[in-house]
Amino acid sequence: MDYFLTEQQKTIKELARRIAEERVLPVRAELDEKEEFPWDIVKELAAADMFRVFVPEEYDGLGGGCLDLCIVTEELSRVCSGIAVTYAASALGCMTLMEYGTDEQKHKFLPDIASGKKLSAFAITEPTAGSDAANIKTTADKVEGGYLLNGTKQFITNGGEAEIYTVIALTDKTRGARGASAIIVEKDTEGFTFGKKEKKMGIRTSATRELVFRNCLVPEENLLGRAGLGFIQAMRLFDKSRPGIGAQAVGLCQGALEAATDYAEERVQFDQHLITMPVIQQMLADMSIQTEAARALVYAAARYVDSGAKDVTEPSAASKVFASDAAMKVAMDAVQICGGSGYMRDYPVEKMMRDAKILQIYEGTNQILRGAIAANLRKRKARTA
Ligand SMILES: Cc1cc2nc3c(=O)[nH]c(=O)nc-3n(C[C@H](O)[C@H](O)[C@H](O)COP(=O)(O)OP(=O)(O)OC[C@H]3O[C@@H](n4cnc5c(N)ncnc54)[C@H](O)[C@@H]3O)c2cc1C
Repeated sequence: MDYFLTEQQKTIKELARRIAEERVLPVRAELDEKEEFPWDIVKELAAADMFRVFVPEEYDGLGGGCLDLCIVTEELSRVCSGIAVTYAASALGCMTLMEYGTDEQKHKFLPDIASGKKLSAFAITEPTAGSDAANIKTTADKVEGGYLLNGTKQFITNGGEAEIYTVIALTDKTRGARGASAIIVEKDTEGFTFGKKEKKMGIRTSATRELVFRNCLVPEENLLGRAGLGFIQAMRLFDKSRPGIGAQAVGLCQGALEAATDYAEERVQFDQHLITMPVIQQMLADMSIQTEAARALVYAAARYVDSGAKDVTEPSAASKVFASDAAMKVAMDAVQICGGSGYMRDYPVEKMMRDAKILQIYEGTNQILRGAIAANLRKRKARTA
């Protein structure tokens, strides 16, 4: 289907696909097996200006929006979802800065993120605050010279590898989530260390670590926007970033569909190629329909975000939920079509099935997001009653 991308978006898409096929494809299994952070690929992406895509032009970016970010993420995820999330998490890590930062803060941090010299990361999750993100305990006490951070963040993508972190912490712990603020913390700040690197089911090339703050003094000028608005800023951020997870899912769907189709064309049983068997054809057709429907919803949600609309919560959540459920189903069906071979690590669909699961969990689990959509339905009904 033609999604009427702009010339710049088409160029970005082609470039991302070329990097994915030429650079990522040959090493994806090895990176996954070794659980190795993909620094060489990050450098390739940086050299191709891919990190500039989501940064405004005045800070050395290309000024692309949510759809541009989705296009790159989708193409990378078609080949390796672990690399796609490494890339997209750097955008997540600086979106609050782009939205609420001062010109000075943006000039200080964004050019290095745009050039790919530095990765960024976003940290809200804690051991006691996952779905219940408002229950964070990390504190940022106002002291002379800045904020003193204490606490632990859990499961942070790009943790340990990124240089620039947006951290949500309580500047007023008496007010709970209303006392939360967004603060930039640089990697080498004293009192900021990293806990264990998680050993994951999928997206294994990406790094997921704990961030540990012990009397970590951060300059006052690293506060983003007003103190006390950090939780709202984080929720608004996810409203805008969720189509990116949807795009990761769409890319994974596309990769799994292509791998399963290739296999069905090659494999002969009962003197027939699998692709000629009606049951297999039905499965492939359903996988294709799911993939295209997910893509259409993700692109529509991304365009809606880019329009500057205020009420993006529902379409954005819907695109993430629908596309990630599609990715899980499509990846499982791809393994089924590839039979015993599909279960083996020699075939890419085994990794795709492992990679798909996280898409239903992070940036709001699909149950939590369905709950938010249902709550919106009820609000709308109450307004019209
Ligand atoms: C690989 C990975 C990378 C991540 N990257 C980041 C990152 O970069 N930055 C960051 O801040 N966080 C990150 N996270 C955290 C992620 O967003 C959380 O794991 C997610 O929000 C779920 O929280 P939880 O794991 O604590 O699960 P829980 O909240 O404990 O949920 C467990 C289960 O209970 C269900 N549940 C909980 N409450 C309800 C409810 N009220 N109604 C219905 N069901 C409910 C959930 O849907 C889920 O099925 C990452 C996580 C992983 C695994």
